[in-house]
Amino acid sequence: MNLDQSKIPQATAKRLPLYYRFLKNLHASGKQRVSSAELSEAVKVDSATIRRDFSYFGALGKKGYGYNVDYLLTFFRKTLDQDEITKVTLIGVGNLGTAFLHYNFSKNNNTKIEIAFDVDYNKVGSDIGGVSVCHLDDLEKELPEDVTVAILTVPVGAAQSITDRLVSRGIKGILNFTPARINVPDDIRVHHIDLAVELQSLVYFLKHYPSE
Ligand code: ATP
Repeated sequence: MNLDQSKIPQATAKRLPLYYRFLKNLHASGKQRVSSAELSEAVKVDSATIRRDFSYFGALGKKGYGYNVDYLLTFFRKTLDQDEITKVTLIGVGNLGTAFLHYNFSKNNNTKIEIAFDVDYNKVGSDIGGVSVCHLDDLEKELPEDVTVAILTVPVGAAQSITDRLVSRGIKGILNFTPARINVPDDIRVHHIDLAVELQSLVYFLKHYPSE
């Protein structure tokens, strides 16, 4: 199962956590094999794409048998570095940020929000979902060095200056929930999730491309 990860296309890489979550559930329910059709139904990715994705990691399904769940799980665990916890910070403890702190991704992933920041003194000093909220002025002082990812849930106007500080502090990846298109150096990865745009796009598709 040796694999050159740079050969996995980015679109495939993005689907890995989805596959992993489903396979973990299958494994827990005692299933030993799964067909691409079953996987397709569960994760809503067409089966041709699943077969192509899986062929990148040398998992070749057998006709009439499907894929071996254990083999796939071992592969995903290794590839997704499930043995290692990625530490995350959250900036902006508003409605959305608070929801993330309560959720804290613990059920699905080996990611953990370690510390949160805000400017509102009503929130600073509190503990939400087991995570301490510090003042943004103390970012450089309080942010542990092994935190590599940040979730941004601040108002749009604050996004870029906070981003600049996070980058200086060594953050490598940002999950940006603000509508701001933030600028970062080439070696920093930003994933942008604009919930309002996603919702609008869903409504648009429902109107203009109703399913048969
Ligand atoms: P709330 O209901 O608490 O106002 P919200 O999500 O509706 O939350 P936003 O105005 O989007 O409100 O603010 C999100 C959070 O970001 C708030 O907790 C706010 O205090 C915080 N915030 C605002 N400006 C900054 C900043 N410059 N740095 C860090 N956090 C900030």
